[in-house]
Amino acid sequence: MTFQLSKPDFHNSDQNKEELQFGENIIQKDLDTDIIAEANKNGTIYLDKDIDLNSDKAKEAISHEKQHLAQMNRGDLDYDDDHVYWKGKKYPRQEMNEGSKRLPWEKEAYSKTKKA
Ligand SMILES: [Zn+2]
Repeated sequence: MTFQLSKPDFHNSDQNKEELQFGENIIQKDLDTDIIAEANKNGTIYLDKDIDLNSDKAKEAISHEKQHLAQMNRGDLDYDDDHVYWKGKKYPRQEMNEGSKRLPWEKEAYSKTKKA
């Protein structure tokens, strides 16, 4: 992998309306250290502002986050501040290493991510 997500890569808080939008649903903003991109329940993807939108790194990260959007869209993945819900099972966020490739939703997303 050319990028590593070691922290939650989906976001809890609501959108800020004033954020600039690029492309379809991709919004570049200042994300936490170690976070490259995040998928949001409202269908948007955040990409760290320091990453070139046209770079391979961005393309791969966006492809990965789109898998999470698809998972949310078909109802397999959901989350709130305290839990992640995957296919009806509840995972306490406190106890998990979010971004770990071993988590079922990550495993699937990584397996489907298009390599740039
Ligand atoms: Zn992920």
